[in-house]
Amino acid sequence: MPSSVDALANLPLRDDLVGLHPYGAPQLDVPILLNVNENTHGVPTDVHTAIVAAVAAATHGLNRYPDREFTELRRNLATYLGHGLTPDQLWAANGSNEVLQQILQAFGGPGRTAIGFPPTYSMYPLLASGTGTRYVTAARGAAYAMTPDATARAVRDSAANIVFLCSPNNPTGTALDLDVIEAAYEAGEDARAIIIVDEAYGEFAQKGTPSALTLLPGRPRLLVSRTMSKAFALAGARIGYLAAAPEVADALRLVRLPYHLSAITQAAANAALTHADTLLSNVEAIKVQRDRIVRELEALGLSPAPSDANFVFFGGLADPHGVWEGLLAAGVLIRDVGIPGSLRVTAGTEQETTAFLSALQKLL
Ligand code: PMP
Repeated sequence: MPSSVDALANLPLRDDLVGLHPYGAPQLDVPILLNVNENTHGVPTDVHTAIVAAVAAATHGLNRYPDREFTELRRNLATYLGHGLTPDQLWAANGSNEVLQQILQAFGGPGRTAIGFPPTYSMYPLLASGTGTRYVTAARGAAYAMTPDATARAVRDSAANIVFLCSPNNPTGTALDLDVIEAAYEAGEDARAIIIVDEAYGEFAQKGTPSALTLLPGRPRLLVSRTMSKAFALAGARIGYLAAAPEVADALRLVRLPYHLSAITQAAANAALTHADTLLSNVEAIKVQRDRIVRELEALGLSPAPSDANFVFFGGLADPHGVWEGLLAAGVLIRDVGIPGSLRVTAGTEQETTAFLSALQKLL
């Protein structure tokens, strides 16, 4: 638990960190956890067996440092992503949060600016402040949509060095059209901006929603980050990754800690990737529940946003915090992202979704 603010004030904390709040999604002991967009289906038995065997084998070599270049993992990630990607275009770290932090360490820092488009992933400003990068924001349009013109203008006007595009966006759930990403890339030409497309929820996209991976050829400043925390049901293993031009990995090598990916992590990730089809088999079931949540919330008179992710953002609540508390009392934890009239819920199993929807109905 954090100690008191008063005690913290006694420490010689960096000036730019004074008054900041840490990332703080509540971790509560509640039967139904639908608050941090995990995959609630758990790890399938045969994948569990494969991970245990791989980790057991890796344990024999724990007296040695791990492969600093995580060669096998990069090969497996390239195979999984397809799109003609080669292992030298892949990079990985302990969660995509660490990937994003390394990008800021390499391309941000004092005197440099990053731009985000809120409401969006709450870690972007925290990662910026942690690396001494100035963080600026630009508004979205109606229904939180982003257009090529407005995005290009914001990128150009800010002269940002780093542009965060989250697609599908957390917390709103909707994916960006590729022309928004292309426009941001072109607008960042003068500042030679790094354009990050955060596709943490990419596997949950609606049919036909293309990945920014398709835009990588010929765009050396475009970086697409992904994670095994969501679709792959491995949030606890902490594995995130990135696809980009090979020279991006050269830049990240300058800032990463030596041997940042443990042998245990690499073994678990490789075992999981060789069972990607099994792990991803729950994605379709989650999408069914996600679409069901949208339909049923509409029927309840609420305003869910269309979702390409494994969660639904919904508005139309007179007292969102009261509803959040009522759900918690019923054993269902969802997320209050602090946006007026709105809450966000993760699509879980069919039973979890039913429990959420019936508890909500009782509260309205
Ligand atoms: N990006 C987005 C948009 C997220 O929602 C999250 C997790 N909540 C992450 C990145 C980081 O995920 P991880 O570090 O587990 O890969």
